[in-house]
Amino acid sequence: MITAGGKLVRKIVVILSVLFFILLVACNDENSVPEENTSDDVEQENKDSEEDTKNEEDEDEKDLDEEVPESEENSEVVEPKYKIDENASVVPVEDGVNENVVLLTIDDAPDKYSLEMAKKLKELEAGAIFFVNGHFIDTEEEQETLKQIHEMGFVIGNHTYNHPLLSDLEGKDDQQREEIVGLNNVIEEIIGERPAFFRAPNGVNTDYSRQLALEEEMVLMNWTYGYDYFKPYMDAEKLTTAMVTGEGPEVDVPYSLLKPGANLLMHDREWTNDALEEIVTGLREQGYEIVDPHLIQTISEKESVE
Ligand SMILES: [Zn+2]
Repeated sequence: MITAGGKLVRKIVVILSVLFFILLVACNDENSVPEENTSDDVEQENKDSEEDTKNEEDEDEKDLDEEVPESEENSEVVEPKYKIDENASVVPVEDGVNENVVLLTIDDAPDKYSLEMAKKLKELEAGAIFFVNGHFIDTEEEQETLKQIHEMGFVIGNHTYNHPLLSDLEGKDDQQREEIVGLNNVIEEIIGERPAFFRAPNGVNTDYSRQLALEEEMVLMNWTYGYDYFKPYMDAEKLTTAMVTGEGPEVDVPYSLLKPGANLLMHDREWTNDALEEIVTGLREQGYEIVDPHLIQTISEKESVE
């Protein structure tokens, strides 16, 4: 038999639990708003859970988290929706995913313009991968720049330490290892994670660099088109036209390379920085979505699926 007093106590307990739950949900909502920050949130959460000692409050929080609807839980884990195919194109991994996407990549970062480019892209809500060279992150100030770009939600890729032509290092395994694995160590120290994508200088890999990339769980990534490193296109207006149409008639590309999944190569250069906003809006006007690189399958994600 339950007494009136017992009922009241149970009522209070229920009300308090509901209030606590609402508070938790509200806090979670605040953390999960900007899409681009999702991975940062996950990272932050991972850090938090590593650092936290397992006290009772944490246990309570976990119990309550389990009652949160599935969709909200999943918003913290980014499910891969695309992969890089053998032509460096971005292709959906499942039906129902928009295939009309292009990927923006910025190589030789973070030199003079990367931070400004990152700010512009952030403003435009356009994701990108910044492929980084070690010699651009060897001062404290440069390391701070890299950290900032990463914290803005951009993906950081490996572009070797000194930007050598890897074919020149054929047979010099130690040097290739230093260029690739050494850079990952430096990047991890600065941003707290190892790159999941590798782009060789000039797109030239060796058998050993391919092996190292795999060992480091990095997806090899060349590109499908880019014009900012050809003399005729070292000009913001001409570059914009070339990037938005996919055509570079002055370097013998009189047909369009813009197609679903195009992987666009750009660099940390003045004219590219000047053209960036119009390139993004121009591509969107053609019906292309700028893909969020966090949605591209990495090797560790691939392994966990298979
Ligand atoms: Zn480069």
